[in-house]
Order: sequence, then structure tokens, then C-alpha cells
Amino acid sequence: MTATTSEEAAGSKRDHVEISSSKENADEEAPLAKKASTSKEDGVVPSIVMVTGGSGLVGKAIENFVNEKPRDNESWVYLSSKDGDLRDRKSTEAIFERVKPTHVIHLAAKVGGLFANMSQKVEFYRENVLINDNVMECSRIYKVKKLVSFLSTCIFPDKTTYPIDETMLHNGPPHSSNEGYALAKRLIDTMNRAYAEEYNCNFTSIIPTNIYGPNDNFSIQNGHVIPGLIHKCYLAKKNNTPFTIWGSGTPLRQFVYSKDLAELTVWVMRDYHKPDPITLSVDEKEEVSIKSVALSVAKAMDFKGEVVFDTEKADGQFKKTACNKKLRSHLPDYKFTTMDEGIKKSVDWFVENFDTCRK
Ligand code: NAP
Ligand code: GDP
Repeated sequence: MTATTSEEAAGSKRDHVEISSSKENADEEAPLAKKASTSKEDGVVPSIVMVTGGSGLVGKAIENFVNEKPRDNESWVYLSSKDGDLRDRKSTEAIFERVKPTHVIHLAAKVGGLFANMSQKVEFYRENVLINDNVMECSRIYKVKKLVSFLSTCIFPDKTTYPIDETMLHNGPPHSSNEGYALAKRLIDTMNRAYAEEYNCNFTSIIPTNIYGPNDNFSIQNGHVIPGLIHKCYLAKKNNTPFTIWGSGTPLRQFVYSKDLAELTVWVMRDYHKPDPITLSVDEKEEVSIKSVALSVAKAMDFKGEVVFDTEKADGQFKKTACNKKLRSHLPDYKFTTMDEGIKKSVDWFVENFDTCRK
């Protein structure tokens, strides 16, 4: 478990677009959350924000963001699976008892790319259902003032019209490749509304598109497409072999850089207070093909060899174009990191951390 108080984190500076909450957002605040944002000077205990899955791709990005821009009235606790297995109810209770969080950002999950999802549907369903049930129910029992959980655009219906927005989440089965994960995640949304209705809980969820950045899982077999491509391109350059892209390269995706997602997630935790989910995505025009992402990886790696497609491998869902109108209604001017910049930073991080990173 790593913990950061605002005093410890103070001192570092950042140069990214600052998010400030609008009046409209402030008006939406639930009564419980208003209490949590009262400052130390008012004599109120500061918020304790507990991040489950704090050692992963998104958790580390949140930790970096919060440390660069600390707030006086918040202390942050980042959990990994070493702090307790969230599939287990007793160890989840022990964590809540020990940390006594006022706010929870719930990231912990069994996570994997297309090929991991296709081969372990049972585990993706069961582990995520157990983790989510334990975290949600403990958040109710321990009177957490705000719980923000993570869904994904890959849980959207497969047969649909585009772009897909937050109201369409349950309108038809997900793509068959990740049914287990998708249905476990969709239940979070159903239960957020149920907890609000029955217990007046301030629970909500985020729908991010494909995420990438430093501290990702770079496993070629189990990881997502960008970390997989970075690892494969690194090996191709080192061994002087072709760089192989799986599938046809034609599927389309919207990618969000982990640092941007971290900043937006913290904004949701502080300022978005409705049970209905909010999609955190780049604009629709930023949707790109897998082929163009692979070429961007090759450029960032300075790979000059042959690029080939293994069309025996699955393409998965062709596209899942997400609509970010809701986000834009709150933060119309938010500037996302460009793909070329984000990929360059991710490639450089992977090369520097090759010996120790997850792969
Ligand atoms: P990640 O890098 O794989 O990290 C997963 C985190 O969950 C790790 O901190 C891991 O701890 C923890 N964890 C896993 N099983 C656990 C268990 N049984 N008990 C306690 N902790 C456990 O994941 P991520 O990419 O940051 O994803 C964060 C969230 O975003 C997830 O909910 C995921 O479903 C969602 N999401 C991800 C993507 C994407 O492209 N990555 C896209 C959409 C949505 P250890 O480090 O100790 O193993
Ligand atoms: P998805 O967005 O949920 O489908 O998951 P991924 O992040 O795993 O992306 C899958 C898409 O990238 C599919 O179209 C794959 O065919 C393609 N792809 C190309 N190369 C790779 C790779 O090395 N790893 C992964 N996971 N997908 C790849």
C-alpha cells in the first residue's frame, strides 16, 4: 500500500490543462460529496481517497497526477493485490476497516486484451463480479461518500448504431470475444443505480476507451494492442525480424493516454455526481486504425524493418466508436495528448524500463 498526503506530494509542478469544475457541475453535487470537499480550515477531517488497482496502468497515472497537483484536503492510498485479494470478502472488509476511505476510485479488475478475453471468459466474468460486488457492498457498509468504478467501451453492444453513448450500454449483447468481462462490468452500472435508489449511495462509473501509457501490461499474449505492439516492435528491432501486427489492421479504436485519463478520473471523483456513467474519450474524429497505430509505434521505435499482418489472428470488434458529448458538455476545451506524443512517451518508457516492467 502506498499513501500520499498533500504535504508529501507538494512541491512538484505540472504543465497540463487545468480542469476546474463549472458552476453547473457544482450544482449537481450530492449532499454527501459536499461534506467531503470541506477544507481542513473548517475543522473537518480531510477526504481519504482509496484507489483499488493502484499499482496498474491507470492507478500509477493517477498517483503521478495527484502528486504533481496535490490538494490540502485529500490524502490518497494506492492499493495493489499485495494489500489483499479483493475477490475475497474478508480481505476486502479488512482493507476498508484499515484505510477507512471516504472516497474510492475502483480500478482493480482482471484486465486483458482481446486474446486473453477470448481464452478465459469464465475467469474474466467470475473474478470481476466478485471484486466489484465486494468493493461496492463494502463501500455501502463503510459509508463511502463517493465510489467511482471503471467500465470500458468494449462492453458496449456489438450490433448498434454509431456513435455509442452512455444510454446505449445495455442495448444488446456485447461482442462474443469478451462476453464474460463485459457482462461483469455492465452489472456495475445496474448496481450503481440500485445503490442510489435503495441506499442513497453516491456511486458512479467511468467508460474509458482503450487506454495506454507507462506502467501498462506489456505481455504480448495477454496485454492490449498498444503495449503488445510496442513489445513486439522492440523485439523485431533487436532481433532483426519482421514486426507482426495481428489481424487485418483495419479495426478502428479511440485511444486515451493514461495521464489524460488520470486527470479526468480525478475530476469525476471530485465534481461529477450522478449514478449514470460518463464516457471519457477523445473525440470521434480521433478514431484510428490498428494499422496506423502500429506504424506510429514503428516510427517511435525507429524500426526500419518489414511490417507484416498475421490475418489468421482475430480482429475482434470492428469498431466501438464512443460519443464524448457528455464529457464535452462539462469540459469543452479539454486538450487530449496526441497519439504520436503518447506513443512516443510509452515507447521511451518501455525501452527505459524493459528489465523491470510487466511483460
Ligand atoms: P492493470 O494495469 O491490469 O491493473 C490492474 C490492477 O488491479 C492492478 O493494480 C492489480 O494489482 C489489481 N488487481 C487485479 N486483481 C486484483 C485482486 N483480485 N485483488 C486486488 N487487486 C487486484 O489495469 P488497468 O489497465 O490500469 O485498468 C484499470 C481499470 O480500467 C480496470 O477496471 C479496467 O477494466 C478498466 N479499463 C482498462 C482499459 C485498458 O485499455 N487498459 C480499457 C478500458 C477499461 P497487482 O498489480 O498487484 O496485480
Ligand atoms: P479490444 O480493443 O478490446 O479489442 O482489445 P485490444 O486492445 O486487445 O485490441 C485488439 C485489436 O488489436 C484487434 O483488432 C487485434 O487484431 C489487434 N491487434 C494487433 N496486434 C495486436 C497485439 O499484438 N495484441 C493485441 N492484443 N491486439 C492486437
